[in-house]
Amino acid sequence: MEESDATDLFIIGGGINGCGIARDAAGRGLSVTLAEMNDLASATSSASTKLFHGGLRYLEYFEFRLVREALIERETLLRAMPHISWPMRFVLPYHPSMRFESETPTSKLLTTVMPWMKGRRPAWLIRLGLFMYDHLGGRKILPGTTSLSLPGTPEGAPIDDRFETAYEYSDCWVQDSRLVVLNARDAEARGATILTRTKVLSAAREDGVWRVETRDTETGETAVHRARMLVNAGGPWVGEIIKDTVHLNVNEGVRLVRGSHIVTRKLYDHDKCYFFQGTDGRIIFAIPYEQDFTLIGTTDAEHHDPDSPPVCTPEERDYLIAFANRYFKREITKDDVVWTYSGVRPLYDDGATSATAATRDYTLKVEGAGGAPVLNVFGGKITTYRRLAEGAMARIGEHISGVTDPWTAGAPLPGGDFPADGVERQIFDLQKACPFLSDRWARRLVRTYGTEAVQALGSPRIVDDLGPDFGATLCGAEVDWLMDKEFARTAEDVLWRRTKLGLHLSEPQVAALEDYMAARRRSESRAAG
Ligand SMILES: Cc1cc2nc3c(=O)[nH]c(=O)nc-3n(C[C@H](O)[C@H](O)[C@H](O)COP(=O)(O)OP(=O)(O)OC[C@H]3O[C@@H](n4cnc5c(N)ncnc54)[C@H](O)[C@@H]3O)c2cc1C
Repeated sequence: MEESDATDLFIIGGGINGCGIARDAAGRGLSVTLAEMNDLASATSSASTKLFHGGLRYLEYFEFRLVREALIERETLLRAMPHISWPMRFVLPYHPSMRFESETPTSKLLTTVMPWMKGRRPAWLIRLGLFMYDHLGGRKILPGTTSLSLPGTPEGAPIDDRFETAYEYSDCWVQDSRLVVLNARDAEARGATILTRTKVLSAAREDGVWRVETRDTETGETAVHRARMLVNAGGPWVGEIIKDTVHLNVNEGVRLVRGSHIVTRKLYDHDKCYFFQGTDGRIIFAIPYEQDFTLIGTTDAEHHDPDSPPVCTPEERDYLIAFANRYFKREITKDDVVWTYSGVRPLYDDGATSATAATRDYTLKVEGAGGAPVLNVFGGKITTYRRLAEGAMARIGEHISGVTDPWTAGAPLPGGDFPADGVERQIFDLQKACPFLSDRWARRLVRTYGTEAVQALGSPRIVDDLGPDFGATLCGAEVDWLMDKEFARTAEDVLWRRTKLGLHLSEPQVAALEDYMAARRRSESRAAG
């Protein structure tokens, strides 16, 4: 194959950063191939706390640029995907005796100027932080901070009586794994080739281009691709790819920090989140989750091997339970935990002393020796994925001609082409088109597919058009859509990444779904062969 036959970009990794770059690049007219060794978002990008947030606690570390960029981005993203992202209010209970970790820059400053506080935070300082949070980032849609007197309020009801005051501020929720798949779909619609279950085995420079060898992990077949530029968006594997797959002689690396979450049955009855501050300088969130549950997380633990699947250890689970129990009136025990999940943050290794303090910012490094360049992506947050992709395109444009202007701000993701406050209208319209849908079912579909909800059900006329019923409102027509349009191959893809219906289905229901999908895969491969 000649260089002229090579694609512009070959992207390793189908997490949010790989898919975000693929979408941006395809929309700017580049030819793109992306390979993901498992399912899209099968690693870190489905295991986050699922917040588009500025990162209130990073103000403690004086990370103003990161916080500002992320705050501005929250509303840009919310507008582009009002189906899978929505505003959330966060209640931060405050007590004057609360002590904070002594190593943050804020703590060090306070120790110098107000030594008598001995690690405590005056209320005015918390208010100042929230004032900055309100004003650093061009907030237009989201409401600002308010103070709350907790006694007698729904927000105060589940919280220990010693907390009388709280502050309430805004951030946004996002369904992280859907964010990834919608970016991949949009990239594909703009001409990119998205290969899932395709592992990159090696990449080497040959005749001024990259020769990339891949293996289909379902069939075992190998293939060779050529590309002018390589993007390493391998997340936790970025360092392994540098060393073992591409054999680059660069010193950058990532620090792997595991974060775990626990999910309990709903712990309280309102739709706001809690922001709890611990004595160890850490914070955790308690968030209403999937209508019937509460999500609590996260931890920070060093993780040494990307190939060792992250799991929530009993110690991490007990840490989260003990942390939450310092705030909730009703004691949580391990028997309340119905599910846990865990992910690995690939943080740029900046030599920070603790996992909590390591920067959440991203770093893009191009290595260009030998003609064909490679862009290595380190760190990042889901909140900044679109900005990261724009930054990546700026670097790519230094090496590949014809890269057009940025376009993704304001461009809706599939299904997101309606106003940020238009979800109720979408639900109304969907129920009008499909009167057999219950409120809960219609809400789930709009929150998953937005304006594409009717199509995702196969445009049914009557309920019998939906095909088999797998339970918890999952039907055959929806599974077909997920397999045909959203790269789903297994029940796990459907139940834990395209949706979170795994929280609701029984084992026999999961087995029935597996059988259905396996039969469909068999008939697909017969048709292809
Ligand atoms: C516990 C936790 C909570 C978080 N909470 C938030 C939050 O609330 N808000 C926020 O903004 N950010 C949050 N983050 C950060 C965010 O989730 C990550 O920064 C982001 O998901 C990283 O995406 P990525 O694409 O770089 O990595 P990944 O999602 O891990 O994707 C990398 C992909 O590369 C693939 N890959 C690796 N090697 C190969 C190969 N050889 N061939 C083919 N494919 C390969 C992997 O299979 C993987 O799917 C959180 C992170 C964690 C761990």
